[in-house]
Order: sequence, then C-alpha cells, then structure tokens
Amino acid sequence: MKQFGVIGLGRFGFSVATSLYEMGYDVLAVDIDEQIVQDISDRVTHAVQADATDENIIRSLGIRNLDVVIVTIGSNIQASIMVTMIVKELGVKFVVAKAQSDLHAKVLYKVGADRVVFPERDMGIRVARNLVSSKVLDYIELSKDYSIVEIEPMIEWIGLSLKEIGIRQNHGLNVVAVRKNKEDIVVSPGPEYVINEDDILVVIGENRNLRKFEKKDE
Ligand code: ADP
Repeated sequence: MKQFGVIGLGRFGFSVATSLYEMGYDVLAVDIDEQIVQDISDRVTHAVQADATDENIIRSLGIRNLDVVIVTIGSNIQASIMVTMIVKELGVKFVVAKAQSDLHAKVLYKVGADRVVFPERDMGIRVARNLVSSKVLDYIELSKDYSIVEIEPMIEWIGLSLKEIGIRQNHGLNVVAVRKNKEDIVVSPGPEYVINEDDILVVIGENRNLRKFEKKDE
C-alpha cells in the first residue's frame, strides 16, 4: 500500500491529503499552522505541526520512507523550493510540487521535483474547456499533443459498432473504455461493441482529432 506525505495544507494540499486518505491510503499531513493541523487531524493517518523547511524535523518524521510526497506550499515560494529540495535529498522517490508560475516550476524541477502541478491554472483550463465544449465531459492532457477525454457519442454513431463507425480510421480515436452508468464500465471494448445512446466514451487521441468534439453547438 502506497504511503503519501502532503506538506502545506492550504486549500489544495488539504483537499489532496483528505482525498488520498478517503481512497484508503496512509497519509502524513504536515503544516506549520497548528489550527490547520487540528482541523485535518481526524481526516488523515497522521497530522503533524512542523516547519517543513527545518531539515532535522522533516528527517525525524520519517519522510524518507514515504512513496510519494506532495509539496503543496504555494504562496511561500522560498519555502516550497527548500522543502522540495530537502525531501528529494532525503531520498523520496517521487516528489510532486505545486507551482505558482513557470519560473517557480523551473526551479522546482532543478531542485529535483519529479512532477510540478499548477492546480489553479489546470483547473481553469479544465473548467473553460468543459464550458465551451458540448460533447467533451472531462479531459486529461497527457502531453502537448495527446489527451484522454470523455465524450458523448455523436448522434450518427448510436446503434453502430466501433468497427462500423471506423472510429480509429475515420476519427483517429481509440476507445479505451465505455461508461454505461455510474458503476458499469466496459474496458477496452472490441470492434464489435455497439454504441448505446447513454454511453460515455473514454477516448485517447491526438488533440487535433479531439478538437472536433469541443465545438459548441450553436
Ligand atoms: P492554497 O493556495 O492551496 O491555499 P497556500 O500556499 O495558501 O495554498 O497554503 C500553503 C500552506 O502551507 C498553508 O497552510 C501554510 O500554513 C503552509 N506552510 C507554509 N510554509 C510552511 C512551512 N515552512 N512548513 C509547513 N507548512 C507551511
């Protein structure tokens, strides 16, 4: 079972820590603010009040034994950089850090962050995309060129199989899964799979092919 550490329990860190815990993972949550630590204490495995820029304290918490540490100190850029560096130096394999700006992100990568996230910016893009697209329901950008999106099928696809539609040949999309309702999911449907009206298709493809589904119905 993976063990997570979340350092800096602002709005983003708090949400990451409690979500991981609700999913059943062990979570060590750290913040310098005593009140925040109290607020989160029964919603994570361990909550500790500490200044994470103090290397000795971080060491004593056993941070190096964690699989993933997420540094979610955002507004105090200096602290975020120092903590990321310390955690990485202690030997944590995978460190995710939250950045405020591109320059901040660059420094975080330089000091060893394995992944840098921009929650405000990413959520802004996501909300914007969801608002303007009629068919795209959710969206994960894999790279500059590729994404995974959830789309509603086009009207003309309903009742046809993936093969009949030629979803790969004609649309450049690979269907990785179909959501039938909240619980049922068909993973990796075969070419004979017939699309139903209520299906939600989880597709992977090039952004230029996915863009078609983003057009708003006027
Ligand atoms: P958000 O925008 O997600 O709310 P913030 O940057 O405002 O993020 O929150 C950062 C959190 O990190 C705050 O709860 C703050 O108390 C905590 N924090 C700041 N510096 C340190 C530090 N040196 N050690 C531990 N926690 C810290």
